[in-house]
Amino acid sequence: MAVEHFTWADKIAGELLKRGRKHIVHGMWTPSGYFHIGNARGELLVPAMVARAVKDAGGSARQNFLADDFDDMDKVPAGIAVNAEKYNEFLGKPLRECPSPVKGYDNWASYFTELALEDMEKFTEKPKFHSVYDEYRKGKYDKVIRIVLDNAGKVRDLWEIIAGTHKPENWLPVMVVCENCGRSATTKAVSWDGKKLGYVCSEAREYAKPCRHEGEIIPRKGNVKLPWRVHWPATWFVFGTTFESAGKDHFTKGGSVDTGHAFMREVFGKEPPYQVGTEFIQLAGQKISGSRGNVITLKDWLEVAEPELLRFMMISYQPSTAIDFDMHSGKLFLLEQRHHESEAVYYGQKSLGEKRDSQLKREYMLSQVKKPAKQMPVQLDYSLLTMVVQMYPHKSMGKIIELLHSLKALKKDKLAKGDEQRISVMINRARVWVEKYAPDDLKLKLNETAPLLNLTEDEIDAVFTLSKELSKDWTEQDLQSRIYEIAREEDVEPRRFFQILYKILLNRESGPRLGPFIIVVGKEKIREILDTLKK
Ligand SMILES: [Zn+2]
Repeated sequence: MAVEHFTWADKIAGELLKRGRKHIVHGMWTPSGYFHIGNARGELLVPAMVARAVKDAGGSARQNFLADDFDDMDKVPAGIAVNAEKYNEFLGKPLRECPSPVKGYDNWASYFTELALEDMEKFTEKPKFHSVYDEYRKGKYDKVIRIVLDNAGKVRDLWEIIAGTHKPENWLPVMVVCENCGRSATTKAVSWDGKKLGYVCSEAREYAKPCRHEGEIIPRKGNVKLPWRVHWPATWFVFGTTFESAGKDHFTKGGSVDTGHAFMREVFGKEPPYQVGTEFIQLAGQKISGSRGNVITLKDWLEVAEPELLRFMMISYQPSTAIDFDMHSGKLFLLEQRHHESEAVYYGQKSLGEKRDSQLKREYMLSQVKKPAKQMPVQLDYSLLTMVVQMYPHKSMGKIIELLHSLKALKKDKLAKGDEQRISVMINRARVWVEKYAPDDLKLKLNETAPLLNLTEDEIDAVFTLSKELSKDWTEQDLQSRIYEIAREEDVEPRRFFQILYKILLNRESGPRLGPFIIVVGKEKIREILDTLKK
């Protein structure tokens, strides 16, 4: 089957299918802090979209998500509300063996992992989860550790040639978990006779002291782990990984991608996976970290936006492009407009030219978690919704839907099954957005009295003419037209007149369509405000 390369995911799928029909795509994350949308990009959604594209092109793909919870805690990340001193005794131990920062969870790693997994399946078909700690303990890495030990010289040479780091002659590329103190960062393997591995706990770290224990073990079931540069390709070997996205920083010359590929080919005798470098998501110019305060978790996202929107963000940017995003500015609204546009194109309600349409349709399909509905779902302008929920904090859902109809905001006369549900979810999300993220200039409140404005006599006359006429019966559309007429009759430029009215009513330069808006707020109420304008 010919593969149409409309998105980066389809291009990658095309490359993968040249190599074979069956694929294992792979994401791996260290659960030292919160799983955020930047992690989700590289470790969850880029692989998920590649897997979908492989399947759509006729191949088969399975997705793994690995928590690298055998990794040590080397510091308590900033911004996580724990007494850092209490963790001093755990530094240098696996994240799985450090106490949870929050009561009710087994350990540090499981707290952050459970949070991540909880929301994951709302964003994608749930990947198969693996705990690296458990896999080592089950013995899944035993064979590969033996290969590494038997080929220690080769590993050492490749490491030196590629990364330029010299290791001593008798150096062994493994980390023994000290039987006495439980740390691996403080141990040094000193001998390997093909069966037994000797070690000493002698290496001082900034964050952990060695306990001086000396011992000999048979490497098996998690008593030995591999240093990152070897652990990574060993994981490809263990899981048969054929595709992985990784942080762009790994791709520097002589970096862990280069050594990983060499170890995979030369030591494990396998082809390395196809890899793409994925850039960070920045929050208003700042790198996201896993600590609270400067992070958007999947849960944070779901509070204000649909999961499809995050997928759309990921598919519409190349993984190698840094994305600058934040919740406070209009970026979320713009993203949604773009998503709506792709939706309209997908359902044939809009066209931007054949080539662009094909691309947008494909982006829309890949942005969907489930199969798209038969009928185009109702679309609502996010920024308008944030105004509506601010104007009517206490209105029932039914009343708000009526209001949205009257504002012509629903863009369809008859709601289909599921539309009301979608609207009510969107309304709740808009409410949270206003409460948590709205900057001052997007906060909307009906004025009690008109602000002081520097108006001409004509402009003042126009305001009072409108006020008087509000006592009559009006349909929304007729009132809207009448506002234009009043402006013209009073020699005021209509755009200027609307600006003045928004200023008087909302302290803004623009706002919702005034005819419907006035009817819904109530003509009497509007009249009261207009009449406070100083003559
Ligand atoms: Zn020790």
